[in-house]
Amino acid sequence: MEIWHPFTQHGLNEPIIEIETSNDEFLITKSGEKIIDGISSWWVNTLGHKHPYIADAIKKEAEKLHQIIFAGFTHKPALDVAERLGKFLPDNFSHVFFSDSGSTSVEVALKMAVGYHYNKGENRPIVVAMEHSYHGDTFGGMSSGARSVFNEPYTKMLFEVERIPYPAPGKEKETIKHYKNLLEAKGDKIGAIILEPLVLGSGGMFFYPPYIIDELYKLSKEHGVIFALDEVMTGFGRTGTMFAFNQTNIIPDIICLSKGLTGGSIPLAATVCTKEIYNAYLSKDKAKMFFHSSSYTANPIACAAACANLEIWQEKDVLADVKRINEFYQTQIERFKNLGCKNVRILGDIFAYEVAHAGNDYVSNTGVKLYEYYRKNGVLLRPLGNTVYVMPPYCIKEESLNKIFDVMEKGIKEVL
Ligand SMILES: *Cc1c(COP(=O)(O)O)cnc(C)c1O
Repeated sequence: MEIWHPFTQHGLNEPIIEIETSNDEFLITKSGEKIIDGISSWWVNTLGHKHPYIADAIKKEAEKLHQIIFAGFTHKPALDVAERLGKFLPDNFSHVFFSDSGSTSVEVALKMAVGYHYNKGENRPIVVAMEHSYHGDTFGGMSSGARSVFNEPYTKMLFEVERIPYPAPGKEKETIKHYKNLLEAKGDKIGAIILEPLVLGSGGMFFYPPYIIDELYKLSKEHGVIFALDEVMTGFGRTGTMFAFNQTNIIPDIICLSKGLTGGSIPLAATVCTKEIYNAYLSKDKAKMFFHSSSYTANPIACAAACANLEIWQEKDVLADVKRINEFYQTQIERFKNLGCKNVRILGDIFAYEVAHAGNDYVSNTGVKLYEYYRKNGVLLRPLGNTVYVMPPYCIKEESLNKIFDVMEKGIKEVL
């Protein structure tokens, strides 16, 4: 049997590279080549590969407890995650619901929000999402995400959502106005709005300012709409604060966490909600409970990894590393503008730009050619169409950053 890889067109014979081990910002191939992981292995790895403290926690827990049923039972690693996560979040957040991936954390958030209204006797089946957004590859995630070549065969099976435009620079007012009109027209049927805060990741690394979130939140509350933030990518430091919503003046009703929750070691997800939402399910009536579970919910080994990660966040100034990387980025903006790159932009650990070339879609060849060039030069970057971005683990050394940026410059000169 062979393996069918994700987001891979096997018909193009794209090479599949076997990685034998990894440490810090490096992936080491079977033949001993060192590749700099410039995208944190699809954004999951925050603290560096195979962090010894997390590896140790996993080892210890693996000798104590594997999966146990989580309905009617609990365990220390899960209790510890709840307690530690609580220390990083405002008191309004009262409950955490565990699942196993970013997509499932979004499904849980959507179900939680719509069920909240249902249990209160309201019928609010409409979800609002932002243009260009990405919320995962399950059906709820695809439905709320942007429609594109990614999900075209399934279009008819996806539920309709209302969309607000991306607040592009200079067009922020239109987004607010659109949402206001939408709420006035059918606010009493809208159950939730779900947003990727500050950065639309997979959609093309589009940034928008925190005050937009404040304004959308304010409008949501005027109409009783649950405000959910998908922090699957932005959580754990990517935007320069622990969570992206820390840069706003609001506290959302729900946040989805996954990628950085275990530092990039093992799958786990958390959907965190307020007491208000939890209370809508609290009853003597079984029909009002939250009907959701995954078999591996709150896996003890994954929870132990999350605990170790949260301990590191408690004890070490992790954001100092993000700041260091951001300061390095600041020194590179002019350089890439001078190379003819468009929209050179930075936020926290993210550096992004468009190469002035070819079409703007994911399947365009520009990104593929650049990807191959970078890889042959020892750097892993996966452009989104003609958008090139860097998002390394926070432990990355200056030498490696320099190498990434030199290879990107050469890529522009030699490939395009
Ligand atoms: C990656 C991502 C998801 C999906 O997470 P998976 O773990 O791949 O299911 C959802 N939302 C956002 C914003 C993401 O970046």
